[in-house]
Order: sequence, then structure tokens, then C-alpha cells
Amino acid sequence: MAAEATSLLVVEDDPFQREAVCAYLAGQGFAVEGVGDAMACRAAVRAAMPDAAILDVGLPGGEDGFALARWLRGLSPTLGIIMLTAAGDVVDRVVGLECGADDYITKPFEPRELLARIRAVMRRATAEHRVAESLPAGRVRIGAAVLDLRSGKLMTAEGKEDQLTEGEFTLLRLFTEHPNRALHRDWLLERLSGDEEPEAFDRAIDLRVMRLRRKVERNPARPMALRTVRGVGYLFDPEGV
Ligand code: CA
Repeated sequence: MAAEATSLLVVEDDPFQREAVCAYLAGQGFAVEGVGDAMACRAAVRAAMPDAAILDVGLPGGEDGFALARWLRGLSPTLGIIMLTAAGDVVDRVVGLECGADDYITKPFEPRELLARIRAVMRRATAEHRVAESLPAGRVRIGAAVLDLRSGKLMTAEGKEDQLTEGEFTLLRLFTEHPNRALHRDWLLERLSGDEEPEAFDRAIDLRVMRLRRKVERNPARPMALRTVRGVGYLFDPEGV
């Protein structure tokens, strides 16, 4: 275990189930906080962003676990999100992934099964972090192009040297810092809005990605590196060439 315990937020309205899950995970060395509804979840997250959130789908008060997952993913691309679904919930993998969840588990479940899912999600987050840390040193391949992170220059898919605009560079850097992760359009927009380009509004993300695809993809009509994640935003696949 790392020196600092991994922090988990459990959102489950059934007090018995919540207590059981929290007690089990605390016993496994996690720093666990349990809350019973969406409003309490939002308050807890505003106080301290956890490393991972375990969200029951069916919650009281009109805001379900999917809505919470979408909100959380908008705040953080690296937060681990696991959904707890009941047998009666209309849910499939696609719905879960579209709202930004990493994984889901159907009730009733073995606590050990939940533990295994949490560890898998956290391993992925750690690997991402390592990639991000190694990046400032040099160059990174994006599709058929190579980005030099120090100069902001791109060797395009066609082999031409291209000086990126600040907005393009910021966007590509964000992708390379979070590989294999669906990045929410709102999250990207927020990161780009500081660069003082007035076009940094809503559709501007789509336009920028489209422009970047022409520079980095072998076939911009069938993007392999900068992929679209329907209903969420975009994902950088480092293996996609
Ligand atoms: Ca419930």
C-alpha cells in the first residue's frame, strides 16, 4: 500500500448495505466515507475529491447514480467510478460507460469482488499517472504524428513540421496526460477556457479535435488516436495509429 490510504466515497441509500460496504473496505485499508444520497455526495466531493467513488444507481431524491457519475467525470478524468446496479435496474455496459463509469457490479455481490474491481480501477489510474509524469521529458506519439512537448511543435502524419496554436497544444497535452480515458467535453472546455481564445466555447472543442485529427490521424475520417466517446467527449488511444 502507498503511504497515504486510497480514499473511497461510497454512495448508497440503504444504510445497512452502506455500513457493510464501508466497514469491509475500511478493513482493507481504505479511507472510506459513506453517504446516502446525491446531495450528500456532492457536498463530500466538494470538501475533498476521493480517489474513487462507488455509486449505487438507485438513489432517492431524483438524481440517480448515473447522473452523479456524469457530474463526477466532468470534474475529474482520473477519478475511479464503479456503479452498483440492482437486478431490476435498466442498465448495460454502454449506459455505464457513456456516463463516465469505469466499471459496474450487480447486486448482490461478494465484497471481495468489489475489492477486485476497485483495485483494477486504481491500478489503471496509477499507470496513467506514471505515463503523465514521464511526459515532460520529451516527445509523445499521437496517431501517426509526434508531438514535442517542449517546443509545442508537431511532426504531422504527413511528415510536416507544424507549429501548434496554444489551444491545440493544450488540448493535445491534456490527451497525452490522460491516455485511454474518456475526457468529458465540459472538462476539456474548462481547461481550455483560460487560453483567452474567444472561440473556446462548446462546439469549439469538436472543431479543434476535427482540426487536430487532420494533423495526427492517418485517415481523419476514421480516427484511431483521438476517438469520439458518444455522449461524453474524446479519448486518446496511445496504441491507435
Ligand atoms: Ca438504492
